[in-house]
Amino acid sequence: MSQFLNPRYASLEAYTPGEQPRDKRYIKLNTNESPYPPAPEVVAAMDAAQVEDLRLYSDPTGKALREKIGGLYGLQWDNVILTNGSDDILNFAFMAFSGDGAAFPDITYGFYSVFAQLHGIDTQVIPLKEDFTLDYRDYCGLNKMIVIANPNAPTGLAIPLEQIRAILETNPGHVVVIDEAYVDFGGESAAALLGQYDNLLVTQTFSKSRSMAGARLGFGMASKAIIEDLEKLRYSTNPYNINRLTMLLGEKTVDNNGYYMENCRRIADTRAYTQKALESLGFTVLPGLGNFLFAQSPDISGEALYLALKDRGVLVRHFTNPRICNYNRITIGTRQEMEEFIRTVREIKEGTL
Ligand code: PMP
Repeated sequence: MSQFLNPRYASLEAYTPGEQPRDKRYIKLNTNESPYPPAPEVVAAMDAAQVEDLRLYSDPTGKALREKIGGLYGLQWDNVILTNGSDDILNFAFMAFSGDGAAFPDITYGFYSVFAQLHGIDTQVIPLKEDFTLDYRDYCGLNKMIVIANPNAPTGLAIPLEQIRAILETNPGHVVVIDEAYVDFGGESAAALLGQYDNLLVTQTFSKSRSMAGARLGFGMASKAIIEDLEKLRYSTNPYNINRLTMLLGEKTVDNNGYYMENCRRIADTRAYTQKALESLGFTVLPGLGNFLFAQSPDISGEALYLALKDRGVLVRHFTNPRICNYNRITIGTRQEMEEFIRTVREIKEGTL
């Protein structure tokens, strides 16, 4: 730390992203990326002319892409905000709506507590139940901003829309953020409730189901008034937060929605295969609905398994939080990758026992 850092950031603990190693090629099952490339039409949309046009700024309104995203959910363009990955919209939400504090589960996406710290927000961290399910009644009538990932990460467990409805109805004076980074793999989007609740903000991303993690594109959907508030912060931070290439590829991606939804279906099938195979090796696997599984073995620690897999060229995610340190989060890759993963796990377990 230099002597110049504003003391308010001295104790800030930054978010630790998953590894993106360059040393060798891994079967990479650690950061929930899609194993499938973007649609051929998206790849074909990029050419030298697009790169030459980088001398020009991107459209700060993003209207064309906002219209297309709105079209997926029956919303107007001004019910949508575009951000640099969904981390960016979550950051804006914490800045904008947590004047009375923020509440979220103890086991959830690690960035929530970082944003809370970054902005000096009072937080109420609510423990999930023993089996990692969320009791929606814990979130009723809290009178502060609420953030729930649905499906949750890293557990993959989801809550039904009826429970989200109850949380919205009992917190009418505060924004309820539903982070749907993984909704396309089997969840149900709360976007269907947007016409009924003016305190709902739904966030999504192109990073997982839409094969664009490296392009950084996320979005929020909410009432026009909430979007206006968020736009105020976006224009006060970086009006060009979406670069020209990402904006163009984002439009082509929405145009080819069917291709991506088919990939989600394939991933859900491969998830079912992987869950069964892990269970037959003695693992406890949570019934997750994301593009990942959260699993633990009774006879090898989460850390030991992570290290042994890495040694053999397979990367999964391990967390040090004591409540979940015996688990690993395993991204669902192609069927072939998952067969290789299962073979490697079997080999490790046979070597250990
Ligand atoms: N929400 C959740 C629950 C996540 O797991 C992630 C991915 N790390 C994000 C949001 C943010 O992803 P991105 O910024 O790539 O959209």
